[in-house]
Amino acid sequence: MRNLNVQLPERAYPITIGAGTRRHLADLVERLAEVERVAIIADQRVAELHLDRVTEALPVTQTVLRFPPGEASKSLQQAEQLYDKLAGARIARRDLIVTLGGGVAGDLGGFVAATWLRGVRFVQMPTTLLAAIDASIGGKTGVNHSAGKNLIGAFHQPEAVLVDLDFLETLPPREYIAGLAESVKHAVIRDAGLLEWHEQHVDQIAARQPKLQEELIARSCEIKAEIVARDEREHDLRMILNHGHTIGHALEHLLNYELRHGECVALGMLVENELARARGILATETAERIATLIERLGLPTRLPRALDADEVTDTCRLDKKVRGGVVHFVLLKGLGEPERVRDISAKEIAEALRVVQPD
Ligand code: NAD
Repeated sequence: MRNLNVQLPERAYPITIGAGTRRHLADLVERLAEVERVAIIADQRVAELHLDRVTEALPVTQTVLRFPPGEASKSLQQAEQLYDKLAGARIARRDLIVTLGGGVAGDLGGFVAATWLRGVRFVQMPTTLLAAIDASIGGKTGVNHSAGKNLIGAFHQPEAVLVDLDFLETLPPREYIAGLAESVKHAVIRDAGLLEWHEQHVDQIAARQPKLQEELIARSCEIKAEIVARDEREHDLRMILNHGHTIGHALEHLLNYELRHGECVALGMLVENELARARGILATETAERIATLIERLGLPTRLPRALDADEVTDTCRLDKKVRGGVVHFVLLKGLGEPERVRDISAKEIAEALRVVQPD
């Protein structure tokens, strides 16, 4: 079992990682004052697999709000259906929402928690690797808009994050591998030692050894927690977490979410490293080293179908990482040395995109 803290300026909250951490939920409910009811916002598939193990130990009245799995549920329409159910269950200001599932459950459920009655407390119980190491930490919640990803949202920090490794056991291999993209991202932006650790443990990572998984999640969470603690509202430092995401989000959107978020982040890192390499700010050997690791981990290195470069550029312009009409990229100068770059041209994007276009 590992315990970490997200040390925000105003308050801290714990991240607990290990087998059976779901049992901490009952204590948490008792420690938080005045919780009369708990509403569990759960991914339907995850609910079928694991809900009983969450509800059995809860000491208060509980309501389960299920939503269909998949990115399409990150919508205002889905949020509205959840509000109806919260109203039906009479969830009040001092009650608690628990999100159970991957990043979609956390983003959607967290957004509903942020907006219901102007904000109720919530606990994240991530069940994908991606959500455990990234999405559940840091308080970014939201839903998608037809114009782009995560365009509607709120900052709302959870009371706690409980990562129960028992739940991750049922995660399909593709989802597990997709999550590794975010741990590679944390490594390349902040911790060259963690990159080396990935390189040395590729086989054990693939075998999903429990002890190793706990270490992988803890090391990645430490990086995210440290960055969020220093810049909760993404004024500056937190932007480095967007490495791979300016391109990644555009690919995700243009491919109609047929690739997993983590898969698009992996492709996004390849393209953004090519942008940096072509400008001469990133050494070719470092770009190749990262590309080799991405491939060895089983992440995609090519798009499933060709995308039009102009469309990719246009979609990047709709992203939240635009300031004053200029798209921001977080490129690497080297390992652990991210740098914000603002003047990338459409021509540079078109050329860099070639590294991931299908043959
Ligand atoms: P997801 O929530 O869609 O889960 C992936 C799939 O795995 C779903 O089909 C789900 O039913 C299934 N699943 C989840 N847990 C399972 C389990 N234990 N066993 C079996 N099946 C299980 O996707 P994701 O990759 O976890 O999250 C992606 C989302 O997270 C994206 O919308 C992305 O934008 C968001 N995200 C948010 C942040 C943030 O800071 N808020 C950061 C990164 C990503």
